[in-house]
Amino acid sequence: MREEIKDLIIKLKDANHHINSDNTHNEHGVNFIIEALESEIEKDAGLLSENKKLRRLLWLSHGCQGLYGDDGEMQCNECRIDFLRDSADDIELKIIKKKNPEYYKMLTSDQAIKEESQ
Ligand SMILES: [Zn+2]
Repeated sequence: MREEIKDLIIKLKDANHHINSDNTHNEHGVNFIIEALESEIEKDAGLLSENKKLRRLLWLSHGCQGLYGDDGEMQCNECRIDFLRDSADDIELKIIKKKNPEYYKMLTSDQAIKEESQ
């Protein structure tokens, strides 16, 4: 999605370049759209950066001894979580399974799954 927005910005900048200098109304409109899209990309990059920091903090502090972190990896050989690649949902479930097995059973029972889908 981010790459699509970047491509769109390039196309809009190109289109804006070809707008007549006396057609300032359209030029302002295109500039407004470009700035809005660039702002969204900056927000997206900020969220990705925060996401990585929070994953690293969770990896370091989740309480296991089997941390593996060579070459930027953030894995745990004890609970088998890959903090770099696993989804937030998977990480949440694996941590609940380790820290509170009874709650995990309740969450993953057929009844809980049915209730959540309603
Ligand atoms: Zn672990």
